[in-house]
Amino acid sequence: MEEIVEKNKCTGCTACMNICPKHAISMVEDEEGFKHPVIDQDKCINCGLCKKTCPVLNTSNNKSLNKCYVAYNKDKESTLNKASSGNIFELIAKNVLNANGIVIGAAFDKDNKLNHIAIDNIKDLDKLKGSKYLQSNLDNMFTYIKDNINDKKILFVGTPCQVAGLKAYLKKDYDNLFTIDLVCHGVPSPKLFAKYIKELEIENNDKVINYNFRDKVSGWDTYSNTITFKNKRITELHSNNKYMKLFLSDIALRECCYNCNFKIGNKYSDITLGDFWGVKKYYPDMYNKTGVSAIIINTEKGNYIFNSIKDNTIYKECKLEEIVSGNPSLKISGKYPNNRNNFFKDLDIYDINKLSKKYIKKASLYKKVLGKGKRIIKKILKK
Ligand SMILES: Cc1cc2nc3c(=O)[nH]c(=O)nc-3n(C[C@H](O)[C@H](O)[C@H](O)COP(=O)(O)OP(=O)(O)OC[C@H]3O[C@@H](n4cnc5c(N)ncnc54)[C@H](O)[C@@H]3O)c2cc1C
Ligand code: SF4
Ligand code: SF4
Ligand code: SF4
Repeated sequence: MEEIVEKNKCTGCTACMNICPKHAISMVEDEEGFKHPVIDQDKCINCGLCKKTCPVLNTSNNKSLNKCYVAYNKDKESTLNKASSGNIFELIAKNVLNANGIVIGAAFDKDNKLNHIAIDNIKDLDKLKGSKYLQSNLDNMFTYIKDNINDKKILFVGTPCQVAGLKAYLKKDYDNLFTIDLVCHGVPSPKLFAKYIKELEIENNDKVINYNFRDKVSGWDTYSNTITFKNKRITELHSNNKYMKLFLSDIALRECCYNCNFKIGNKYSDITLGDFWGVKKYYPDMYNKTGVSAIIINTEKGNYIFNSIKDNTIYKECKLEEIVSGNPSLKISGKYPNNRNNFFKDLDIYDINKLSKKYIKKASLYKKVLGKGKRIIKKILKK
């Protein structure tokens, strides 16, 4: 067997690699910087388990309860610190950790590479908090979850395709497993982020030790990127930041993100979390400058999770359409840019400045929503 699923459909979820009984599959980075499964033909026994497991080949149109809330964490200080939206993730994570459980989410390592890691202590929670806008590396995390799920409660947070991959790999539901996925319009290339960081380090002659994509120093809906170096810190509105502009222009997403299988109607998580961008329009009394979350409850377990944290939130029930109107990526994928292939050819040649001049042209759906932030900031500056 040479290919499990067509390359442009593979999400890199690692379910096939984790399930292979002969350890014949490795996840190998392609020229765009995304990891894909590669089969060692000498080890493969053609059992077909990888194909039977792949969530792209075996989608099941999962029904969701679609019970929706607009909400935010009552602890505003903690919400300002690193959380992207209304800090709902932290409340759920703390419940699991307080029950001696394990929380698994995306964290940067010391070289600014993004990996899913497991934590069992509240003091490590800050590592997971906050959205990181690039694809995270899962490695053998699904096998780790299977090895521990009978003994401990586990909360797994990831993109919808990562949660689908985990469920496909596990093949059955476990009472101890809780899953959250994020409203997701796509993941950009880790190679692009690594190049951006390297250029920043050269330009500033300093090492980047922390990157915050959603600093609320300029507000939640007008957020900034803050780059912490060993000796200084730079804060820039996301609408002026070259990496964010490339991300939001949709030029550098993984190929499968332009035709995503894991939108509303095919959800595998218990709860979906996102930003409630339409809050001022639909629930002005719920607007909170430290961040407002959109919560979609997909399963009864999700209901149970929300009920266990809701007293620590300010919340209101809302309609799915109200969430979707500010987050169209819940239903539709971004358009495949005609010049995407050229972009990835140029990635090896041009610097980030040149790439952004050449490729940042028109706004994506996500950018149109977030673009409102730029106009608000301009108004503030004029005052
Ligand atoms: C790549 C990406 C794209 C997104 N696109 C949208 C969007 O279009 N619209 C929208 O409303 N919301 C989007 N979100 C979700 C949103 O930014 C918040 O993550 C979400 O609302 C949860 O916020 P919070 O304050 O409750 O928790 P936070 O403290 O922000 O927690 C975020 C959780 O997400 C996990 N996480 C962070 N980065 C990644 C990653 N790269 N891969 C997998 N897991 C990760 C963290 O481990 C943590 O558990 C996106 C998130 C990501 C990572
Ligand atoms: S067919 Fe079986 S042995 Fe071969 S790569 Fe797939 S899971 Fe592994
Ligand atoms: S299981 Fe996941 S990583 Fe493997 S081929 Fe399918 S989508 Fe790709
Ligand atoms: S858009 Fe779809 S395929 Fe792409 S990372 Fe998000 S969930 Fe996965």
